Amino acid sequence: MPTYIAPVEDMMFLFDKLRNNKNYNEIEKYKEINSELVKNILEEAAKINQNIILPLAKSGDENPTILENGVVRTPPGYKEAYTKFIEDGWTSLSCDPKYGGQGMPKTVSSFFDEMLSSASLSFKLYSELSIGAYNCISHHATDSIKNKFLPQIVQGKWSGTMCLTEPACGTDLGLLKTKAVEQPDETYKLSGQKIFITSGDHDLTENIIHLVIARASDSPSGTKGISLFLVPKFLVKDDGSIGSRNGVSTGSIESKMGIKGSATCVLNFDDAIGYMIGPKNKGLNSMFTMMNLERIVVGIQGLGISEIAYQNALSYSKERKQGKSNNSKSTNGADYIIEHADIKRSLLNMKSIIEGERALCFWLSQQTEVSLNHSDEKVRQEASDFVSLMTPVVKSMFTDMGMEITSEAMQIYGGYGYTKDQGIEQLYRDNRITPIYEGTNSVQAADLVFRKLVNKNGDIINRYLDLVKKECNIDGDKIKPFIKELNYHIEILSKFTVWIKEKIQNSKDDVSAACNDYLKVLGLVATAHSWIKVLEVCFKDYESNKKFYEDKIQTANFFFNRVLPRAESHFKTATTGSDYIMNFKFN
Ligand SMILES: Cc1cc2nc3c(=O)[nH]c(=O)nc-3n(C[C@H](O)[C@H](O)[C@H](O)COP(=O)(O)OP(=O)(O)OC[C@H]3O[C@@H](n4cnc5c(N)ncnc54)[C@H](O)[C@@H]3O)c2cc1C
Repeated sequence: MPTYIAPVEDMMFLFDKLRNNKNYNEIEKYKEINSELVKNILEEAAKINQNIILPLAKSGDENPTILENGVVRTPPGYKEAYTKFIEDGWTSLSCDPKYGGQGMPKTVSSFFDEMLSSASLSFKLYSELSIGAYNCISHHATDSIKNKFLPQIVQGKWSGTMCLTEPACGTDLGLLKTKAVEQPDETYKLSGQKIFITSGDHDLTENIIHLVIARASDSPSGTKGISLFLVPKFLVKDDGSIGSRNGVSTGSIESKMGIKGSATCVLNFDDAIGYMIGPKNKGLNSMFTMMNLERIVVGIQGLGISEIAYQNALSYSKERKQGKSNNSKSTNGADYIIEHADIKRSLLNMKSIIEGERALCFWLSQQTEVSLNHSDEKVRQEASDFVSLMTPVVKSMFTDMGMEITSEAMQIYGGYGYTKDQGIEQLYRDNRITPIYEGTNSVQAADLVFRKLVNKNGDIINRYLDLVKKECNIDGDKIKPFIKELNYHIEILSKFTVWIKEKIQNSKDDVSAACNDYLKVLGLVATAHSWIKVLEVCFKDYESNKKFYEDKIQTANFFFNRVLPRAESHFKTATTGSDYIMNFKFN
């Protein structure tokens, strides 16, 4: 079974040294969230993840969730762990104190999300969609709905789901068939089938609150006629107690490649009573509140799984002896495989991507908080634009890199990685869903190029690049070569952006065929930007913690030499256009 030590030192480094964003520091309610408090939280988080959640990964994989006589049973150990999880208050970490939450910023809860993803993604999913539902309800529901449902969700006694997908309606939500018929008492009765619903049914909580998109009888077809409804598994009485069973039942649960401990359900709605959330026919807008934050969290899933894969590959490479390295000092027998240049390269590749991503994620968490909580509307809007630009990037790049990193970890283990004993292949299988759900990575890339580069507030991408250039205008001989490399790649990204904006006018296939590459170039530049901010601290504070900072500088050096340059190849290949692709006739 893989082992895991939560990277608290790196997280605290980010919290202590990179929390220098002026706008973030101006948020009144977070002024008291100091280093000591955060360290305590992360140390407790590390304990529960390392000791209680991590063992569930294997148990969930070997004993998948089952549907038995109409009841969905989670794997052995899940119930006990969940009870402890909610008793310790982990579901309430980032929620509003008004509903019983602890009011921690995303800069802290993202670290917890990463740890939980490393320990067991399957287990994490039971609480993850609850936080998504919490966000959606708290933004769009009436006070009476909020007061009735949110305190229970915050405490983890009730969980949440997000019900979009149907058999013939995946990416294209306009195709949905689930109907909602209005009742005289202003409730709705929903009928239809939803599939692939994460945590759609299970035995961990007293109630499950489904957020369902459906079409009201008099609504237009397509995405303009979609509304959002809250449909509880058990109806809730006016005094908040649980009433009778609603018309939602579990048809089956999916048998899957990975995340086998997570219940992925087919849900049948038969005249199920629902309450409309937000305005009629604007359901997708409301649902996107949940999905946008959720997309960042899916990116963090990729990061968390990468971290545990890397940690185990590193340990294994220090234990396994095979062959002699080029500089072997051994006179008899083989060297540890970590002595081989290619293994070292692979480990550094993983490490440099993971630490860069963590720093980028920390920046994005700050921007998210500014977009939600800053007192100045203009500042909020600018941060919101950056978050919207970077959300598809983090979702796609982190999860794609998760595939690369789990595959590399398996390669380091050789045959012992491919076989089941060490649990490394499970990480690869568990991560494989992350580029698919919450909008496939290709859909994220299309969203980025067609909708996010420029919006009603102007040229977001160029505003972002101006910010990067401004923040990287740093003096110092040691940091200069890194900045030179970044600037070179910013130029490439700028040329790529001009090409995209030109082609978008009348060569849309060129843009569609280039969008995945564009997303990767932006992701690499954004990660390099985060590395520059890390390096600035390393060179400035070097003497105070030489070992830690030297490690960071060497890791960054690898990133700038070996990872960032991938951007140029993406640019060159993507800008060859799409005629030769679109004209190809498959037999
Ligand atoms: C384990 C698991 C858990 C899930 N959890 C949930 C959940 O909790 N709630 C929920 O509602 N759904 C959930 N889903 C569904 C998931 O979000 C969808 O599978 C995903 O959105 C893709 O839809 P699809 O599978 O129908 O693929 P399709 O939409 O049929 O796409 C097939 C392929 O075509 C590509 N494609 C589609 N449209 C375009 C386009 N316009 N341009 C270019 N390429 C395109 C896609 O990128 C993909 O590669 C889950 C799925 C799984 C497997």
